[in-house]
Amino acid sequence: MKDKPRIVVVGGGFGGLAAIKALKGSGAHITLIDKRNHHLFQPLLYQVATTSLAPAEIAWPIRHLVHRRNDVRTLMGEVAGVDGHRKEVALADGTMVPYDYLILGTGARHAYFGHSDWEPYAPGLKTLEDATAMRRRLLVAFEKAELEGDPARRRELLTFVIIGGGPTGVELAGAVIELARITLRDDFRNFRPEDARVVLIEAGPRVLPNFKPEMSEYAQRALKELGVEVLLGTPVTAVHADGVDTANGSIKSNTVIWAAGVLASPAAKWLGVEADKAGRVKVREDLSVPGYPEVFAIGDTAVLPKPIPGIGDAAKQAGRHAAHVIRARLRGDATAMPFHYHHLGDIATVGRSRALIDFGWLKLTGWIGWWTWGFAHIYFLIGMKNRIFIALNWLWIYLSGYRSARLITQDGPTPASASRADGSAPAGTVGTPPQDSTKARLRA
Ligand SMILES: Cc1cc2nc3c(=O)[nH]c(=O)nc-3n(C[C@H](O)[C@H](O)[C@H](O)COP(=O)(O)OP(=O)(O)OC[C@H]3O[C@@H](n4cnc5c(N)ncnc54)[C@H](O)[C@@H]3O)c2cc1C
Repeated sequence: MKDKPRIVVVGGGFGGLAAIKALKGSGAHITLIDKRNHHLFQPLLYQVATTSLAPAEIAWPIRHLVHRRNDVRTLMGEVAGVDGHRKEVALADGTMVPYDYLILGTGARHAYFGHSDWEPYAPGLKTLEDATAMRRRLLVAFEKAELEGDPARRRELLTFVIIGGGPTGVELAGAVIELARITLRDDFRNFRPEDARVVLIEAGPRVLPNFKPEMSEYAQRALKELGVEVLLGTPVTAVHADGVDTANGSIKSNTVIWAAGVLASPAAKWLGVEADKAGRVKVREDLSVPGYPEVFAIGDTAVLPKPIPGIGDAAKQAGRHAAHVIRARLRGDATAMPFHYHHLGDIATVGRSRALIDFGWLKLTGWIGWWTWGFAHIYFLIGMKNRIFIALNWLWIYLSGYRSARLITQDGPTPASASRADGSAPAGTVGTPPQDSTKARLRA
């Protein structure tokens, strides 16, 4: 082991795992470090947040994914720094992990364009914890509405605002309105869940700005048909406990969801190298970090001179490329190997029976698009069990509208004990008897 070259891969996401796979047979001793014990299929996170899938259906223990690879050891630890001169990765607990080659695939998180104070009122979606917290917020809003006697307040509880018209915002908007109008339709007595209002706010002139204009138009039409209010050209100016303020007025809402900007992991800071506005390491054409030819940054945490999209397949291609460059260097081959990204296409879904597929040579919308979207995602999942479970689950939801993962989990106030989405109660109401006669009658 001592004489073998040491390759450290930080991040067991799409990019990191693709790199590990491509390093098979390289003869190196590989260490995979991740702060979580699971690999997450982020494209389906919104389905956990909106009760279609359970967390374990879209996440896999990293250790198990590489258990057949004797050349790989897995460490669960949070990287806090990199000493590029000593060639060591520093974990938060002080452990130092030496490397000969390093691949950084530490991804990104959502960002609030300098308004981090908005986060408690408009959480985003990146981890399983984010998804189950969002699921809780959504379901608790309906439970509170059942207890609420004041129609104006009930309206706020049943107003769901999603900020950001990219694929995540569009997919969330479609899933939330169908949760209200189909899944929960018959479950409440004090209000009609189908009266819920879902508002999608986008600062730019169209949703899905990275897709072709005709695809954006289709998505907008599909959202409107489902009942989503789409506000375009509407920058958000503030997010607070009562809802959102926009350039065109305020919307009172108990549940605001953030699906806008992203900020890369601090990999650039660890190395003290140049980053772009989103914090991504400005890598060279072969994905190596300027000044550190043995360090590579891939996926959402890197940006090339010609930027590529922040999507799973781009991260995988980059991970494979970094592995190939390292393998060449290990063979003594110093040839320049620029990374060429091949864009396979754009794909997004709107609700349970509409989707947009644009592979360039093939464009599909409607239910054919939806089934193609479904098969594509099932293909990219890991493990036969999850593929079968998810396929059956989707078929069941498609036919019946019933979503089985409607669980309010995690600690937090019960619907009757607080009336704000962030779990905070309006001052003076917790523990005091209801003053409102409507509420008193409802509780009698
Ligand atoms: C809600 C959502 C929906 C999406 N939908 C799609 C979609 O439909 N199609 C698509 O192609 N892409 C989609 N994406 C984007 C796609 O998931 C990312 O582009 C992709 O995951 C990037 O891969 P990565 O390897 O760079 O990072 P990630 O997959 O994010 O992996 C990063 C890994 O690094 C680990 N890590 C981070 N910091 C540290 C640290 N300090 N120490 C140790 N480990 C660390 C993390 O735990 C994680 O495992 C979506 C993303 C989100 C959030």
